[in-house]
Amino acid sequence: MVKKRRILIPEPRSKFLRVRCTVCGNEQVVFSHATFPARCLVCGTQLVQPTGGKAKLINAEIVRVLD
Ligand SMILES: [Zn+2]
Repeated sequence: MVKKRRILIPEPRSKFLRVRCTVCGNEQVVFSHATFPARCLVCGTQLVQPTGGKAKLINAEIVRVLD
């Protein structure tokens, strides 16, 4: 039996993402591990769905990752 070495994966570093609202095209910065649903500042569409880990983008596309 092959022993699998357990590799410790460090917690993914949280980042700020510059995203574009796919509804109105507004660009804004959201937190990659947002714990609250972020909304577009212009049209109010929900952009980010918190998942408990990395937030899921729902009406947004990533323009740039800021670090
Ligand atoms: Zn918008």
